[in-house]
Amino acid sequence: MNDPTSSKKKLEGKVAIISGGASGIGEATARHFADHGARAVVIADIHDERGCQGAASIGSRCRYIKCDVTDEQQVKSLVESTVQIYGQLDIMFSNAGIISTCEQNILDFDLIACDYLFAINVRGVAACVKHTARAMVKGGIRGSIVCTASVTATMGAGTKIDYTMSKHAVLGLVRSASKGLGEHGIRVNCVSPSAVATPLLCHEMDTTVEEVEKYFEPMTSLKGGVLKVRHVTDAVLFLASEDSAFVTGHNLIVDAYFVLHHGHED
Ligand code: NAD
Repeated sequence: MNDPTSSKKKLEGKVAIISGGASGIGEATARHFADHGARAVVIADIHDERGCQGAASIGSRCRYIKCDVTDEQQVKSLVESTVQIYGQLDIMFSNAGIISTCEQNILDFDLIACDYLFAINVRGVAACVKHTARAMVKGGIRGSIVCTASVTATMGAGTKIDYTMSKHAVLGLVRSASKGLGEHGIRVNCVSPSAVATPLLCHEMDTTVEEVEKYFEPMTSLKGGVLKVRHVTDAVLFLASEDSAFVTGHNLIVDAYFVLHHGHED
């Protein structure tokens, strides 16, 4: 049984990497992991200034390592450096992602832009999962890998097709990797938020956090509810920690049953 007095320290002694950790969901998760006792949290991102500031504000257990997830060699050396510095890697939160650059539908689908988005949202996630899994297998670590998908991973969309495709791919990767890594005791899951007012979405909608939340509030099924970043970080913590010890290959949807989500096929 869980000792309630230790409930705040779900990640005691753990070493975690968070890709896309310089902003939004990733940054908040880095803080949450540190609050929950992680021995070390590595923020991996391409945004040096925000990454360094975020790590400094979290404290000495957090550091920033530059890593562009589209470059497999950088991901490999991110994982190797982490293991070299801290002796182990227990958790990967593969979260770096971007949204479509335009509202394209299938008739004017920009395949060049699609390649760029896929390099981050799909290949970048695959590289993080692959090199983390290798390090965990090598070190005999029964670790947890969590990827950020989205509610769009299980539904169709008339526009932003590349983003929707990429999140379906993340779900496919998670389900496949969980099968391959089960024999090593490594769990692989994903978290699928609906719209949450991070810099990504505020920039996309060209408005403030308050306006984004006001726009999406009527779309949730929970009266008076709006998805906050902390709801997502709690779900990530659950998947990263021993609280979900028998959960793998799972897609944890955090959307208060988003109305746009009705009719999903999962
Ligand atoms: P955000 O823009 O606030 O943060 C994303 C971070 O990823 C940024 O710090 C950015 O610098 C980093 N990044 C981008 N390209 C990178 C690369 N090549 N290598 C390393 N880092 C890179 O966005 P967010 O809203 O926190 O999004 C995080 C994840 O959540 C994304 O995968 C996104 O698709 C997903 N998501 C977001 C929402 C939402 O409504 N905000 C909903 C569902 C899923």
